[in-house]
Amino acid sequence: MQGSKLNLLAENRMSTYSTTQSSDRMEEVLGIFLASPPAGIPGEVIEAFGRLIKTADGVLPPSVFLEAVEQSPVAISITDLKANILFVNHAFELLTGYSQKEVIGRNQSILSYKVTPLEKYEELWACLAKQKPWNGVLVNKRKHGERYLADLTVAPVLGADAKTRYYLALHRDVTDVHELERQVRDQKILIESVVDAAPVVIALLNSDGKVLLDNHAYKKLQADMRGREPADVFMEQLAEIIDQEKKRTCKTRRSLVNHEVELRFEHGFASRWFSCSGVWVNESYPGVDFYFSGDENCGLLLVANEITSQKKQQEQIRTNALRALMAEQQLVHGMRETLSGAIYQCQAPLNTATAVIAMMERRGDENSSPAHTALLEIIKYSEAVLESLHEALPPETIEADSPININEVIKDVIDVSIQRLLEHGVVVDWGPEANLPIVIGKHYALRSLFKQLLDNAIDAIDEPDGNRREITIITRSQDAMVELILRDTGSGIPEDRRLTVFEPFYSGWRHLKSRPGMGLTIALEIARQHNGEIYIDPYYQNGCGIHLRLPVNDQTVFLRSEND
Ligand code: FAD
Repeated sequence: MQGSKLNLLAENRMSTYSTTQSSDRMEEVLGIFLASPPAGIPGEVIEAFGRLIKTADGVLPPSVFLEAVEQSPVAISITDLKANILFVNHAFELLTGYSQKEVIGRNQSILSYKVTPLEKYEELWACLAKQKPWNGVLVNKRKHGERYLADLTVAPVLGADAKTRYYLALHRDVTDVHELERQVRDQKILIESVVDAAPVVIALLNSDGKVLLDNHAYKKLQADMRGREPADVFMEQLAEIIDQEKKRTCKTRRSLVNHEVELRFEHGFASRWFSCSGVWVNESYPGVDFYFSGDENCGLLLVANEITSQKKQQEQIRTNALRALMAEQQLVHGMRETLSGAIYQCQAPLNTATAVIAMMERRGDENSSPAHTALLEIIKYSEAVLESLHEALPPETIEADSPININEVIKDVIDVSIQRLLEHGVVVDWGPEANLPIVIGKHYALRSLFKQLLDNAIDAIDEPDGNRREITIITRSQDAMVELILRDTGSGIPEDRRLTVFEPFYSGWRHLKSRPGMGLTIALEIARQHNGEIYIDPYYQNGCGIHLRLPVNDQTVFLRSEND
């Protein structure tokens, strides 16, 4: 509709310019004109018409150039060097509302709405003065006062002498485009400020995992990670799920919901925990080659909510429960130790009395001797005491076997013992083997075994000649055994006592005289129950080094350590 209207108008206007529809006719007219140009016609005009014939050179009829300008959908004007209008095309008339007659001879400033900053015009004119084209946006007004945004390009038209003869202007109404751009920009700003203000970490990643957009919380996390890209760490930990999803198309990929991710920091900073969710978003390929292809890639909008404090709370609750449980177990152990001690103490005089009685009976003086009667009384009484002591022994906890990662047992015990270690100013250097095979055994028993060893190590450091206050804990796997090595910098165990310390009721502490001396006996007992062994390292010289070796489960399963 618009096209046919333009054609009609163009035809009418062709007649106004006295041009013909036929190129032959055009060339003929131009030939006559150039042969004897009328007086007063400027030299440049004669030159321009002359070039028109030469340029066409039989390839295109010269009239095509005029028609092309006239019918162009872009508003075109040609001015003199003061911007006085010499020619406008039909699109100019449609856009501005001025007819050709109304504007010829008027200055282009007729279109100015008078709000464009002066610097813009100065820029425009400065470019033209250097014979360079200029492009910019001005606020123009139509004939009836309506303003519009004009995207204007002006360029000098040079003569054969390389001097500027005319100015050419092309302009189009970009009010709608600008409005659209403004809306998009406003929306982008709005989205960015909402995303930025969100208290969760947000990042939009392209299909290669590169961050396209992030928010304030993300940048803060990146600063905390000393410039490391948090997205890389998140993606690394979510790799298993994401790799599975990659086989699907963007539309069919399932969103990620609340996957826990641990960010580990260097330089001794504690780990931080995040709950990660994500949705797949279509990402168009950038670049000209993909403009029409419509091919799309899958990007990921990743949202990570920090849950470190919840995690710490959970861990605190777990440690407290463990501490209470172990305290209870220790109490029971303590009672068993004390009662076993008492039974042991009672057993010795009872054995002596029984031996004396046997001797008296062999001599045959048992009936007449009051001593015999008294001894029998003592034995009877002692046996009754022993029986009630045996009855008072608290029963041992019966525990089922389960798969155990010794590293986790150690971590639990260290967590539970933190307060004591701090109070005694002891530094723990823990070197767990990353992939430690599992051991089948009793959780509580192994925990109390290790607690006993750790408590002993702290006590040893407190001994009068303990020097450095360090405990080193190492785990490793060797010859189908899991080995735990615990070394302290305490007083050490002399060579001649390295076996005695495992005997019941042996206590070599100088500052802890009241200890019943059953700790290592029970530790040895637990190690044996697990078909393992425990011994003092004869080569370690800086204190005491204890080795605990436990056999690995036949169908070895490797559990990842918490701290690898
Ligand atoms: P003016 O006093 O005319 O000009 C403002 C400033 O422009 C002056 O202070 C001066 O620094 C500079 N200037 C003006 N004329 C010249 C000159 N001849 N040589 C060097 N510097 C000069 N303006 C629009 O608002 N809308 C248009 O669509 C538009 N199209 C143009 C198309 C062409 C081909 C050219 C050459 C100019 C066009 N202009 C257009 C600019 C226009 O000519 C005016 O410069 C402008 O409108 C400001 O007019 P004014 O009366 O407010 O101020």
